[in-house]
Amino acid sequence: MQNLNIDSIKKRSFDAIVIGSGISGGWSAKELTGKGLKTLLLERGPNVEHIKDYPTTNMNPWEFKHGGQITKEMRDANPVASRCYAFNETSAHFFVKDAEHPYIQEKPFDWIRGYQVGGKSLMWARGTQRWSQYDFDGPARDGFAVEWPITYAELAPWYSYVEIFAGISGNKDGLAQLPDGEFLPPHEQSCVEKHFTDVMAKKYNGARPIIIGRCAHLTQPQPIHLQQGRGKCQHRNICERGCPFGGYFSSNSSTIPWARQTGKLTLQPDSVVHSIIFDEKKNKATGVRVVDANTKQMTEYYAKIIFVNAATINTNLILLNSKSTRFPNGLGNDNGLLGKYIAFHNFRTTMSAEYEGMLDSTTAGSRPNGSYIPRFRNVFKQETDFLRGYAAGFSASRMTYNDTSGIGEDLKTSLSNRKFGNWRVGSHMMGETIPKESNYVALDDKQTDAWGVPLLKVSVAYDDNDEKMIKDFHEQLTEMYTAAGFTNIRTHDNPNKAPGLDIHEMGGVRMGKDPKTSLLNKWNQLHACKNVFVTDGACMTSNSTQNPSLTFMAITARAANNAVEELKKRNL
Ligand SMILES: Cc1cc2nc3c(=O)[nH]c(=O)nc-3n(C[C@H](O)[C@H](O)[C@H](O)COP(=O)(O)OP(=O)(O)OC[C@H]3O[C@@H](n4cnc5c(N)ncnc54)[C@H](O)[C@@H]3O)c2cc1C
Repeated sequence: MQNLNIDSIKKRSFDAIVIGSGISGGWSAKELTGKGLKTLLLERGPNVEHIKDYPTTNMNPWEFKHGGQITKEMRDANPVASRCYAFNETSAHFFVKDAEHPYIQEKPFDWIRGYQVGGKSLMWARGTQRWSQYDFDGPARDGFAVEWPITYAELAPWYSYVEIFAGISGNKDGLAQLPDGEFLPPHEQSCVEKHFTDVMAKKYNGARPIIIGRCAHLTQPQPIHLQQGRGKCQHRNICERGCPFGGYFSSNSSTIPWARQTGKLTLQPDSVVHSIIFDEKKNKATGVRVVDANTKQMTEYYAKIIFVNAATINTNLILLNSKSTRFPNGLGNDNGLLGKYIAFHNFRTTMSAEYEGMLDSTTAGSRPNGSYIPRFRNVFKQETDFLRGYAAGFSASRMTYNDTSGIGEDLKTSLSNRKFGNWRVGSHMMGETIPKESNYVALDDKQTDAWGVPLLKVSVAYDDNDEKMIKDFHEQLTEMYTAAGFTNIRTHDNPNKAPGLDIHEMGGVRMGKDPKTSLLNKWNQLHACKNVFVTDGACMTSNSTQNPSLTFMAITARAANNAVEELKKRNL
């Protein structure tokens, strides 16, 4: 009997455990297995195997019961998830159903989640901009949160490392606030986007550059991508269903199969991590408690190091729920700051307008990307009445319509002959929010979910700084649009729109130099429990205006590399 028990413990013992198989967890698994560690990748949701488990990827609109649209029934059943632009009849199977995974909104917060192997890497929009030193300088320069313990220069080689493997398309634009990366050929701007770029270059003397967005699409696959079994992006623009070509980066098409090839990976779906086990005698974590998603049975798994990559809010939840005599308020939470200083991106407002020129041109085909207005406010010095700044998307395409005025044969002819209208242009704002102690997540002390895990309370809101930023965005973009000759300029803002739909939530387990004011050191180790690493958005000290996932990847690769070095030196 005793031998059986030893065998069972042996089977459940690994060098490393990674919690969560999304964008950051996929990278943890790839790096740790690649460096020879026997790694258990735990995922709470079901398996999604590349190509095989993309059920809608080759379907046409008429093959869906409702043409691919969201029905009222779906909307009523999923009031939060259905607010996400990418949620519809073609992609709903990758989004968490609201009723199955409740949470408590102390303040309204639209928490968009993807619980499956691959996490949100299946549905993401793939915008991948590096952060710059101006972003890492933010808290220290502007006096909020705490100082970052790492610099852009330290992260730059890791950006290169992940960009080369993931495949990022873009232009070398030479901008201080948006460093260049290792790019595949860029997508093209439409002629009106180019027109806007040119007018802005002259009007602002180069201070407001407009560029083609950088994105995780294989515009020209390199040998490293072909080795992953991935091919060129086909511009189908139905990415959120999963791409059978591996044309965009996802954990399912890229990092997980790569990790699997090493022979060192055990991928275990349907495994809800309940908490991390802390051993007081050893003064370190020894493993995790896992609830089987179907049977609800709990099992322990053991490892020398643990990477927590459950996506910001769930990572906070797991750590808060990892209570022991040594850590009664959650693992590593000596200073009581765990779960606090959550920040997000201010995506509340958009602009639209028309352009009556260039009517001899139109856009051809589809493009999985748009143009991008890098941050131009407060970059080099403080110049407005709000802190930090915003970036924005910019895209232009021709409006189309059908003339429905006739009857009979005339009507039939005009219905089958689409006509082009003016160019429609639009921008969405992506503002940096300031991490604050009052923006937090915490555990509910009474209610639990179906797996016995306490429900999470979210208390996150916009503030006055965000409102000022929105006002400035409207003013500046109106000035810019007017200068480009755009007409019918409109601002669209809904002050009642909750935070969350940016899906860029960050913080709660922030990095920092001082254990009194931060949870993680510069290598993403919990100050108070060095063999636990947090490398998803929870680790972010502040949050820039740029899309964050590329930074999560670079930070993860850097931390995993260091963890293995430390393990070799027997420091963990
Ligand atoms: C529609 C959409 C558009 C987006 N666009 C962009 C964009 O353009 N650019 C950008 O940078 N980002 C974008 N994002 C955000 C991006 O997807 C996330 O930043 C990224 O996926 C975060 O990576 P992650 O590893 O932290 O989390 P995820 O990719 O969400 O992975 C977390 C994984 O952990 C699992 N998990 C959670 N809890 C547990 C538990 N207790 N036990 C076991 N497993 C658990 C989850 O099931 C999930 O699989 C977008 C997201 C969406 C949905």
